[in-house]
Amino acid sequence: MTEPFTPQPSCADPGDIPDLMPVSEARAAMLAGMAAVSGVDAVPLPDALGRVLAEDVIAPIDVPGHDNSAMDGFALRADDLPRGGIGRFTLVGEAWAGRPFSGTVQAGQAVKVATGAVMPRGADTVVIQERVRVDGGVLEVLDGERALANVRAAGEDTRAGDVALAAGTRLMPAEIGYLASLGVRSVCARRRVRVAFFSTGDELVSVESGQPLQPGQVYDSNRHSLRAALETLGVEVRDLGIVVDDAAATEAAFHTAASDADAVVATGGASVSDADHVAATLRAHGRVTFWRVAMRPGRPLASGRVGDAHFFGLPGNPVATLVSYYQFVLPALKRLMGCRELMSPTVTVRCGSALKKSPGRVEYQRGVMTWADGEPIVHSTGRQGAGRLSSMVQANCFIVLSPEQAAISPGDWVEVQLFEGLI
Ligand code: AMP
Ligand code: MG
Repeated sequence: MTEPFTPQPSCADPGDIPDLMPVSEARAAMLAGMAAVSGVDAVPLPDALGRVLAEDVIAPIDVPGHDNSAMDGFALRADDLPRGGIGRFTLVGEAWAGRPFSGTVQAGQAVKVATGAVMPRGADTVVIQERVRVDGGVLEVLDGERALANVRAAGEDTRAGDVALAAGTRLMPAEIGYLASLGVRSVCARRRVRVAFFSTGDELVSVESGQPLQPGQVYDSNRHSLRAALETLGVEVRDLGIVVDDAAATEAAFHTAASDADAVVATGGASVSDADHVAATLRAHGRVTFWRVAMRPGRPLASGRVGDAHFFGLPGNPVATLVSYYQFVLPALKRLMGCRELMSPTVTVRCGSALKKSPGRVEYQRGVMTWADGEPIVHSTGRQGAGRLSSMVQANCFIVLSPEQAAISPGDWVEVQLFEGLI
């Protein structure tokens, strides 16, 4: 008689799986032991895109440095504005951006000013040029102009001594321009994080090899999507290629990867089959936790330390690789980089499709967000298999369905994470 046995939980199970860990708990546990790398670089502003500030930047100057005109027009004294009828002013000079008026505006006088010109001494109001008449050397202003209008005050953007940008800020175009406006030529940034990565699997063929596929073989796509994701983030990458399903080769790859990288990402081989040497090697040599995360796609996930490096073992299915990268590896790398913000925001929009979903796990379904009748709406990309990389290409967002949610009907509200916001 054969022994009865209990099947193990798997991705194919329809409903609640009690011993799976919620995504947020798994992420928190992964991040718990991680801190920013300690090295810093002095980085000149033109090279600073994507770098993360290691310390606060204190504004060295007021911006703007002087009261100045916000518009092209005429600077005069608010006290002289007409109360009924027409006010007449004597034009006594001009002020341009970078070329101030050297005198002082007296009662009944006005100075022609360009946008950005320093406010002439004595004047506190600018009347825009579209609302006046100039007749010879005389300026005519109607009743109804606002006192103190169209003037940008010194320091209204930033005051000298303020924290202009806090430590942990990732420098994007606005931050870079802002630093330039403050006269900051270089910043103290965390050193770049180094990330080594490799793919595992006997079936994988490197696309760089130019080899056609034999039966059962597939091109290694994960290494390329990972490299692209890592380069977008601005880390230094070490591509360690494809590692065959063999214990010695896997061990050697880990040794090389951990020798100089801050983080190692491996894809494939993290589950329970006989060919999964990644898991076996890690059990023998690493301090690694094997997570069974309540998510789809991407349930098997490993993380921990190999040598001094942080390690992430991602499922091999190409969509699962990217989903687990964005949900786990990306926030972890941002922590290593010293970023304050680890997670990108989500938005709630109406769903235009019926979505299949069983309760118990978070699902990251691929969606296309568009506008219809002045409102955002998201539709499914269709079939959601974890190997269908084309679904990621069609999509511009993840539709994030919580464990409690069941099937979605058209018109229901869903949470969406836009790819544009992910880096
Ligand atoms: P594994 O996680 O190693 O069990 O692989 C799961 C599935 O993902 C299998 O169909 C693999 O062929 C596929 N796969 C694993 N690694 C890659 C890769 N680097 N590129 C494309 N497909 C892969
Ligand atoms: Mg494999």
